[in-house]
Amino acid sequence: MEIHGVLVASPGMGHAVPILELGKRLLSHHGFNRVTVFPVTDDVPRSKSLIGKTLTEEDPNFVIRFIQLDVSGQDLTGSLLTKLAEMMRMAIPQIRSAVMELEPKPSVFVVDLLGTEALAVAKELEIAKKHVLVTTSAWFLALTVYMASLDKGTLFKHLSSYGALLIPGCTPVKFDRVQDPSGYVRELAESQRIGLEVVTADGVFVNTCHSLEPVTIRSFLDHKNLGLVMNGVPVYPVGPLVRPAEPDLKHEVLDWLDLQPKGSVVYVSFGSGGALTAEQTMELAYGLELTGFRFVWVVRPPAEHDPSASMFDKGTNQTEPIDFLPYGFLDRTKDIGLVVKTWAPQEEILAHEATGGFVSHCGWNSVLESIVNGVPMVAWPLYSEQKMNAWLVSEELKIAARVDAGNGVVKKEEIVEMVKRVMDEEEGREMRENVKELKKKTAEEAVKNLSTPQAAYFTQY
Ligand code: UDP
Repeated sequence: MEIHGVLVASPGMGHAVPILELGKRLLSHHGFNRVTVFPVTDDVPRSKSLIGKTLTEEDPNFVIRFIQLDVSGQDLTGSLLTKLAEMMRMAIPQIRSAVMELEPKPSVFVVDLLGTEALAVAKELEIAKKHVLVTTSAWFLALTVYMASLDKGTLFKHLSSYGALLIPGCTPVKFDRVQDPSGYVRELAESQRIGLEVVTADGVFVNTCHSLEPVTIRSFLDHKNLGLVMNGVPVYPVGPLVRPAEPDLKHEVLDWLDLQPKGSVVYVSFGSGGALTAEQTMELAYGLELTGFRFVWVVRPPAEHDPSASMFDKGTNQTEPIDFLPYGFLDRTKDIGLVVKTWAPQEEILAHEATGGFVSHCGWNSVLESIVNGVPMVAWPLYSEQKMNAWLVSEELKIAARVDAGNGVVKKEEIVEMVKRVMDEEEGREMRENVKELKKKTAEEAVKNLSTPQAAYFTQY
């Protein structure tokens, strides 16, 4: 029998990239004959262009069909999670009809954490296996399912008291101080819904591995700890699922990196959605200039009220001049720095031997890409679960210096100090050694994860 898998990715490259990688692996390693990926997006040309940059080979059995949402006139407010969850809700009828049209009928359905409402569609269409791919950490999955197991009152008490949430068998999560917990009502409701839907899947695959999250993974395997919360649904670490760097890619940044000494360049990027305020953008520019280190900086136009503003940027500003950096900055730094607008080939940059450090917003894919390339980080979280990721890389894995982004603008002096802690030969030595060790371990685990029974689970039904 032909095995056809259908994979649905919620909006954003952070979801599309690992879903696409999983799709490729299902074909190359797990006996699938056909894979259809449905990335949901409100901007097909932009998604097509970004996804196109991550795919190099064409395979007739690997089909990508975009699900175009019309969000005009919709009230997409609130946090990024709320917005994306709402978009995925709007997409359900289109997902249903797109899946119904597929030939041969798919027997495996996979969706990321933000699209768990679609599991009910897979059930309705009698698809044999329904899975979730968690495109972030096991720790975040733990938080999501555990929060769903608590009643709203208990959860609110935690939020209001700013106390740490003690999750069975793993590191507690300390909520930030918030002015008004009622601002979280919608986000909590979405998060609890997702947590309840996750446990309706046949299996949950997490883009992580033991050497990154040993304690949390153990707790999921323990039926007295998170295993109990999962209600018997198995959780498998399948990572790191990371797009491999393309060795022959041509790009101006890579040409520039070719001319720089080994390990001398700090790469600065805040993912596909991250945006800084005007003041913060200026401060970062001054900071980079002051460090004296070489840099590649992917810049975005400033946004004052939403650190995830670039996620829904329609690409209009790609042609606009960069007029938001300090006067004379580009000229003064032209010998040591390269400023790139909007998008750069991140995997190839991190894999380049000239790259010695990564100032990152700590999106989970960026964290994994940094680790598999052995590059230490300056962790500068902006939104969503990035603070948890930043904590993990700095406090537990000790491969990053973490900026204190909670107190308004990060000053240039702090930026200099953080970049030095990572890039300086002496100061950064320990982090460099740790991340090289982790690179080795995760590479071994990635290979193992392709062949162990947990990978075969995708096709067992
Ligand atoms: N990315 C890239 N070039 C850029 C910005 C991002 O190739 O200029 C890729 C990056 O390599 C990663 C994904 O987009 O695979 C972003 O995912 P991540 O989880 O790091 O952050 P998000 O964008 O979801 O916040």
